Amino acid sequence: MKAQLLTGIRQMQLCEVATARIKEPTDVLLRLEWIGVCGSDMHYYETGRIGSQVVKYPFIVGHECSATVIDFGHEVSGLQKGDQVAVEPAISCSQCDQCRAGRPHTCRHLRFLGCPGQVEGCLSEFMVVPAACCFPTYGQITLQQAVLCEPFAIGVYAVERSGLQQGQSAAILGAGPIGLSCLAAARAEQAGGIFVTEKIDARLAAAARAGADWAANPENEDVVAQMRQRQADGFDIAFECAGQQETLDQAIEVLKPGGKLMIIGIPREERISFNPDLIRRKEITLINVRRQNHCTRKAMDLIAQHRVDLDDMITHTFSFAATREAFDLVAGYRDGVIKALIRVNA
Ligand SMILES: [Zn+2]
Ligand SMILES: [Zn+2]
Repeated sequence: MKAQLLTGIRQMQLCEVATARIKEPTDVLLRLEWIGVCGSDMHYYETGRIGSQVVKYPFIVGHECSATVIDFGHEVSGLQKGDQVAVEPAISCSQCDQCRAGRPHTCRHLRFLGCPGQVEGCLSEFMVVPAACCFPTYGQITLQQAVLCEPFAIGVYAVERSGLQQGQSAAILGAGPIGLSCLAAARAEQAGGIFVTEKIDARLAAAARAGADWAANPENEDVVAQMRQRQADGFDIAFECAGQQETLDQAIEVLKPGGKLMIIGIPREERISFNPDLIRRKEITLINVRRQNHCTRKAMDLIAQHRVDLDDMITHTFSFAATREAFDLVAGYRDGVIKALIRVNA
């Protein structure tokens, strides 16, 4: 089978590799259909690492995908050959304290598709994953929408974990795919007053189309002053989706006393900091979001029931052979890209 291999910093090659095979009775053989390019893939593509996770070349990245079931082991139930599925990229052990406590996303033996040292990613024609990672679409969402379920589930989880109640206000800092996913999920929960900041105008426009009550570019205006003016009491919840010190600081500034800061963005710096006077006086709750937990089916249902519309997020599509062009586009934030998808099975 063919796969796209990372072979160095900003280097990728379409190669012939050994075809994926079923090994365990709970395994499912998938033919990849569509693959999404994620910001975290960019960390590996451009710097060869995220924190302590360092790529050993050659390596296959990619974790957002939809696929068709080709075959499965004898212990698999609930799937048929030919089923279209959204793929949950986290493979947990189901045995450790975290899994038993209902936290498979922080499993002690977690393997995540396309994470160095864990398991290879999905940028290939075929792939084998445990049946627990396969979520049939039942024909209710498209294969492209099924790819978006992975980033969208993170927004669904962040909103769920924030405890957002109907009518509560939200500030979203950063309107890439994850920020837009938080926006869609917060709207589905009927948040009252969702303000968005973002430095790329095409993404701001997408946030406005997706129903943000106010959206502005911090390069053009003092967004903190503007948000304070419009929301004098401050916000109930801030979703930091940019991974920048600047946006973390802005989030603290615009939160109301007792507000919650959801930390979702992945900073490139080794440390982030907070003004202790501000977070202490306001008694801000800091909540980290590690990907998502048990939100894939909810994400799919929200799309299937038309309670969210994420199609606008897909700005570019590429052939499998042109994967590197897709990566360069996303790495350069060029041409108003929000989510680039790769068609594997053309
Ligand atoms: Zn992702
Ligand atoms: Zn576990």
